[in-house]
Amino acid sequence: MSEFRLNFQDTATAFADKSDSQLKEKYRLFKLLNSPTLNSIGSAAARFALSIGLPVEGLIKATIFEQFCGGEKIEECEPTITKLGASNIGAILDYSVEGKATEEDFERTKNEIIKTIERAKDDPNIPFAVFKVTGVAPLGTLERMSRKKRLDAKSQAKCERIHNRVLEICEFAYSVGQPVFIDAEESWIQDAIDRMAAEMMERFNREQAVVYNTIQLYRTDRYQFLKKSRRQAHADGYIYAAKLVRGAYMEKERERAREMNYPSPIHPTKADTDASYDAAIDYCMRHFKDMAFVAGTHNEASSQKVAAMMREYGIAPNHPHIYFSQLYGMGDNISYVLAKEGYNVSKYVPYGPVADTVPYLIRRAQENSSAAGHMSREMEMLERELKRRKLN
Ligand SMILES: Cc1cc2nc3c(=O)[nH]c(=O)nc-3n(C[C@H](O)[C@H](O)[C@H](O)COP(=O)(O)OP(=O)(O)OC[C@H]3O[C@@H](n4cnc5c(N)ncnc54)[C@H](O)[C@@H]3O)c2cc1C
Repeated sequence: MSEFRLNFQDTATAFADKSDSQLKEKYRLFKLLNSPTLNSIGSAAARFALSIGLPVEGLIKATIFEQFCGGEKIEECEPTITKLGASNIGAILDYSVEGKATEEDFERTKNEIIKTIERAKDDPNIPFAVFKVTGVAPLGTLERMSRKKRLDAKSQAKCERIHNRVLEICEFAYSVGQPVFIDAEESWIQDAIDRMAAEMMERFNREQAVVYNTIQLYRTDRYQFLKKSRRQAHADGYIYAAKLVRGAYMEKERERAREMNYPSPIHPTKADTDASYDAAIDYCMRHFKDMAFVAGTHNEASSQKVAAMMREYGIAPNHPHIYFSQLYGMGDNISYVLAKEGYNVSKYVPYGPVADTVPYLIRRAQENSSAAGHMSREMEMLERELKRRKLN
């Protein structure tokens, strides 16, 4: 491997579009999140306050929502799309409403996702759309579908409605030429998601990568699954497209496995997950000509690895089959440095009514706590930049 390295410590580039006061505000929030005690009290308090109808939305909106979301509606995300675009970073409008349960909610969410595709089409500043299948489907039905049990007539009808919604979204994306990611979720519903994703890829990825499935490399079985899925696509004559992530539901997965007494589907250590993620990168790089992939990560070593391999293989940084992606409000040292060097970079820009985005915000809060006993990565970068600007 070459010695090529990008400078992800370049905080001047990472925070170039942040004013001093914006930087200080971000630092204050990440400092709060960094404390495991304040973090868990804050998360529990937000859930509780919203559940009993306390008017805390304004407070959430002005603090954590402001740092991690683009707004409550697509129109409110426009300044963020423009700002990212000015640094050659694409935005991915992510309607982050979770925990809905009625058919009307699912239809409304499907229509909103179609609106994001409508907004994205023909705009080079929005390279991808994205959706979660649980936004348009009841969890119980997805779980039954994943268990491959015989469905009764009522479940069968629900299953058809889910399939139709996923089809409608992907068909629309295809008709306007807009690539779309299908996010990965909990392992006990993932099989249903994977089957629909494979069907959508087979239908719509004949000429170019339109539908991307997501591979969570914290799962012990996913590296094999990635290889099998690509080979299948190759044999069936369509372009395989994958977003590679480590996985966001580790605690939940392990807890359920313990409670229900089955082996945890998650790698036993972080080093195992990292090795699996790197193996997936290697594999995708070896097959970049007949597949497309996105490295969805804030991990510097993984991002360095993709960039170094592209250089080693003589692949142009802006090759359309290879993208990097981070979440809005995080990993700016990776996004902005890669974009400055000409790589394809995009960021999820979550949006939606404040109360409905709380599960998403709590996941981000937990990721930025120093539960492991050291300062979070984001805090470290912010401190470095504050020092560089002589602000602390
Ligand atoms: C653009 C983008 C899209 C995403 N889409 C999805 C999605 O569709 N589905 C989804 O589930 N997640 C998604 N995520 C979140 C992602 O899965 C990770 O939770 C998050 O990015 C942190 O991982 P990392 O690669 O950035 O790096 P790191 O911070 O280096 O890794 C942290 C991750 O490593 C794993 N890990 C940590 N400790 C251990 C341990 N003890 N044993 C085993 N594994 C461990 C966990 O997966 C943890 O999240 C997305 C992230 C991005 C940036």
